Amino acid sequence: MSLTSEDTMSTTHPGQQTENDFYGRAQKYWSEVPATVNGMLGGLGYLNRIDIQGSSSFLRELKDLDRNTALDCGAGIGRITKNLLLPRFETTDIVEQNASFTEKAREFCTENNEHLGRLGEIYTMGLQEFTPTAGKYDVIWCQWVLGHLTENDLLNFFRRIRSGLSTKGYLIVKENVTSSSMVEEDKQDSSVTRPLKAYETAIRSGGFRIVKSWRQQSFPPGLYPVYMLACRPTE
Ligand code: SAH
Repeated sequence: MSLTSEDTMSTTHPGQQTENDFYGRAQKYWSEVPATVNGMLGGLGYLNRIDIQGSSSFLRELKDLDRNTALDCGAGIGRITKNLLLPRFETTDIVEQNASFTEKAREFCTENNEHLGRLGEIYTMGLQEFTPTAGKYDVIWCQWVLGHLTENDLLNFFRRIRSGLSTKGYLIVKENVTSSSMVEEDKQDSSVTRPLKAYETAIRSGGFRIVKSWRQQSFPPGLYPVYMLACRPTE
């Protein structure tokens, strides 16, 4: 997930590599990234404030939102947990594949947090292996991580997390999208950037309907467009 669209990209698909390579190379890439907000944002730490502002406006628009438990998927050191979720939910759980990041998250998300919610479970594993506790989450937040899943794993991930939502729960997807209709591969961090349509299709096939769709405003030019999609399970 590099945020800029100017990096060297090819349009081949990771199906040509083995899945192990695809996940292994992402693990290696992230193991060399500093456990800081700047690291999480590919060197563009100043985006944090704008990003969190956009996300909180989006959350405010969601109808009938319960505020017990949230899940931050591909949380890194917990930038979103700390700034967006802990202030709004009683408990926030984290799932993240990199153990140094989850270790850092414990400290990062609990320092100076007297007025915030509680950091709950931390699952150190890939989203492709994660299954949530049934009915637990009012919000499952996936941001800047789904490009690290293969097409198959993305679809199966959506299907599994559906059962992790509470009765009124929302799945939120906030991801970069391509301006073209092509999937673009980033060989450096071993991820893909998908067109918005590809996410919409996978979300629907995963058993959700999209109830709100916003483009993140005020990001500087040169970045991929970023979309926030709020999804509810279909009956
Ligand atoms: N969502 C956070 C972090 C973005 S950086 C934020 O916006 O601040 C991308 C994160 O995804 C990294 O922490 C990386 O380790 C994690 N990641 C990459 N592949 C993953 C996978 N397959 N499963 C879970 N996390 C993954």
